[in-house]
Amino acid sequence: MTTTADVDPLVARMRPFGTTIFAEMSALAVRTGAVNLGQGFPDTDGPPEMLAAAAEALRSGQNQYPPGPGIPALRAAVAAHQRRFWGLEYDPDGEVVVTAGATEAVAAAILALCEPGDEVLCFEPYYDSYAASIALAGAVRRPVTLRPATGGRYAFDPDALRATFGPRTRLALLNSPHNPTGKVFTPAELTLIAELCQEHDAYAVTDEVYEHLVFTDASAPHLPLATLPGMRERTLRISSAGKTFSCTGWKVGWASGPARLVSALLRVKQFLTFVNAAPLQPAAAVALGLPDEYFAGLRAGMQARRDQLVEGLNDAGFDVLAPEGTYFVTADVTPLGGRDGVAFCRSLPQRCGVVAVPTQVFYDDAEAGRRLVRFAFCKRPEVLTEAVTRLRRLAVG
Ligand code: PMP
Ligand code: GLN
Repeated sequence: MTTTADVDPLVARMRPFGTTIFAEMSALAVRTGAVNLGQGFPDTDGPPEMLAAAAEALRSGQNQYPPGPGIPALRAAVAAHQRRFWGLEYDPDGEVVVTAGATEAVAAAILALCEPGDEVLCFEPYYDSYAASIALAGAVRRPVTLRPATGGRYAFDPDALRATFGPRTRLALLNSPHNPTGKVFTPAELTLIAELCQEHDAYAVTDEVYEHLVFTDASAPHLPLATLPGMRERTLRISSAGKTFSCTGWKVGWASGPARLVSALLRVKQFLTFVNAAPLQPAAAVALGLPDEYFAGLRAGMQARRDQLVEGLNDAGFDVLAPEGTYFVTADVTPLGGRDGVAFCRSLPQRCGVVAVPTQVFYDDAEAGRRLVRFAFCKRPEVLTEAVTRLRRLAVG
């Protein structure tokens, strides 16, 4: 007789998901002493005002459960920030909810909105948690492939997008600026997505965690999908403190949208984590209220580091797809004799002491990303200098 001891205890829908590539590659970096340009996390702290506010909150007793939707000061700051930067109006009471990072907001949105069998449209390469959240909901992922196109940008085929929308499309999950490609979706692309969402009466869930990391030479500035005609009423807009304020370990995120969508998300969220990060919430509120110069400085610093790494990767012989946003750059390894990004990344620490992430693991159509790898440039300039020195060895060796 087969007993529980004989079979994999994990539910079938989660079995295709192994350890995340980020954990695998960070462990490889630790094991080999390589420079870790794999997992995307900054190696410096965020704004001192924010850190001081967190310390003060810890010391002044803000250590118990905060209110379910988040503390009023943070919800007000989230609403004010969206008005200031994107002209979007959300009522902090009912149209904003605080979550355990953007990750929980995305998961709760999908679990709240999708019946088993409903389809979720996303662009591949997709952020890995999307696939797992869709699977947990029993929903079906329907990817549209982004491919390297003219000028080193990634683009999608509009007809493929049209063909992917259908009667079971429940929601379109859009990440712009996009991890891992660094693509910033253009107004024309967003307009098409918006029109198709409306034509098919689908919701939109937007992951905008890199909203402040769009470079000044991008072909278009960041444009939240919710600002397009007809979209605010069907969009849950998600962001978090991690990237904008260099505190990826805090996991303070938020979702905004019309009250009925936010309330649906909250209904699920309350049973996932209930609440999170009490003393960090007032600190995130302080950070969101920082003057415009902070946000411009973050972008300028990251743009300089992008330029540094892009130049180094070009010198090392990679075929670089220069990003317009985020803190990632992808490159094709073909000119360096690479035929497979996974094999290339597994051997890279030994070959030159650097860790990168193969992006093929973020595609259903693995062939489309077979030779592409991702490097993170959210690191101190001296760390990037060292990485580039090591990577140049690939060109000679
Ligand atoms: N979405 C994207 C596209 C990301 O790159 C990340 C993290 N790097 C997240 C979501 C997760 O954000 P958080 O840490 O706030 O959960
Ligand atoms: N979002 C980060 C990245 O893309 C990693 C987050 C994680 O490790 N789950 O590198």
